[in-house]
Amino acid sequence: MTTPIVHFINGELVAGGGREAEVFNPSQGEAFRRVELADKATVEQAIAAAKAAFPAWRNTPPAKRAQVMFRFKQLLEENESKIAELISQEHGKTIEDAIGELKRGIENVEFACGAPQLLKGEYSRNAGPNIDSWSDFQPLGVVAGITPFNFPAMVPLWMYPLAIVCGNTFVLKPSERDPSSTLMIAQLLHEAGLPAGVINVVQGDKLAVDTLIESPTVKAISFVGSTPIAEYIYTEANRRGKRVQALGGAKNHAVVMPDADLDNAVNALMGAAYGSCGERCMAISVAVAVGDQVADALVAKLTPKIQALKIGAGTSCGLDMGPLVTRQHCDKVRGYVDTGVSEGAELVVDGRGLSVAGNEAGFFLGGCLFDKVTAEMTIYRDEIFGPVLCIVRVGSLEEAMQLINDHEYGNGTCIFTRDGESARLFCDEIEVGMVGVNVPLPVPVSYHSFGGWKRSLFGDLHAYGPDGVRFYTKRKTITQRWPERASHEAAQFAFPSNG
Ligand code: NAD
Repeated sequence: MTTPIVHFINGELVAGGGREAEVFNPSQGEAFRRVELADKATVEQAIAAAKAAFPAWRNTPPAKRAQVMFRFKQLLEENESKIAELISQEHGKTIEDAIGELKRGIENVEFACGAPQLLKGEYSRNAGPNIDSWSDFQPLGVVAGITPFNFPAMVPLWMYPLAIVCGNTFVLKPSERDPSSTLMIAQLLHEAGLPAGVINVVQGDKLAVDTLIESPTVKAISFVGSTPIAEYIYTEANRRGKRVQALGGAKNHAVVMPDADLDNAVNALMGAAYGSCGERCMAISVAVAVGDQVADALVAKLTPKIQALKIGAGTSCGLDMGPLVTRQHCDKVRGYVDTGVSEGAELVVDGRGLSVAGNEAGFFLGGCLFDKVTAEMTIYRDEIFGPVLCIVRVGSLEEAMQLINDHEYGNGTCIFTRDGESARLFCDEIEVGMVGVNVPLPVPVSYHSFGGWKRSLFGDLHAYGPDGVRFYTKRKTITQRWPERASHEAAQFAFPSNG
């Protein structure tokens, strides 16, 4: 095995921590790299580097900060295949999918290039007699990001390009399961011309996270990961007076109406349910069929497509799906399939027997399809985060919407229909943060913002886009007048107004 993956602090690769974790190649089912796990002192070193870099970076003109992002975008594009290979090796997703996530990440860098425009503030001349008023959006200081395994390139890019162009300095704690692409991308940002200490990466686990939460220097935390950890980080960091946005898990439903174009809906469901082996927070894991006819047709059309999924090592070309990320996660998903069967759901396609020739030890599970799933079943309630699609049969759109609104998660959802009235009702009344109409993965573009409702997001502001600018800045409102030199003004005891 090669030397361990280390931290990136103050513009340099830094070892430290004293503990290591194995990084697996999930297609081969074996550990092939090691990553250092930061101790408290290493995280504090990163926080100190970010703190030291803040005063100069805060006063760097936004246009100059943006110039770094223009160069960063170019470097990301030049290194696309190297980054995609690292993602695929450690995560398991296909190369094409890895390139897709990188491109969506780059869109956030493009948005950050607009920093001078985004930070212009608000101005009112003559807010009162000879009084002008304006609002500045000032950086918070040192901010931190904690990210999940499933998008090692894109999710960190939701956070730090925008935080940094807003004038903050950053400490990132990526997932310890697939840290290599995340580290390489941060190094590219440094190469693009960012001063040392503005971006820092600490590899680690709970100890690193807790050190970030406990540090009074860290002013805000952006988290993306599972709901129990999102809630923990939100509660603990908020309690210490930090600004927090903590994005959690999901159970995304797709409603299929009787008037939907069924062949298109089926193809959309295939990509959204089985792409990235279902390890996406926006994956569709429940298809809600309105009427038995729709359900029967869905089962008939989905079954042969699921059986024909091309599954293999993510780094090979032309595949639909790779392995799951770790053996534990693969066993957990397999366990959910067992539970679904024992709870009485109808397992129409069983992917548990899959073996990939040449990769027999890989963490593979074939696509699974359950029919006649009910709202009480564990496989309906829990986020499975694997290649398992559940069909729930309902009698009407209203029943479908009630089901979705009653679920604890509210990240994404979509409706397949040809009827504008149904689509409009769905968009208006559904208790979910991101909604698609004939769009199965309604991940907002970088100049909108990303976030779920209910237990899919803790905090007030969504990630990236306009909400991201607000999250990474604090408003300061200045009211100014210049009385004439010789004027003598009497004291005013009534509250000043324009009345
Ligand atoms: P995770 O919650 O296990 O880990 C996320 C991060 O938290 C990692 O950096 C990890 O090191 C850290 N962490 C783990 N356990 C911790 C603990 N006890 N204390 C402090 N920190 C801890 O999530 P994951 O398995 O890496 O990612 C999958 C989850 O992320 C899924 O639930 C998925 O839905 C969710 N996710 C959500 C979104 C979204 O936008 N809502 C996007 C991507 C992923």
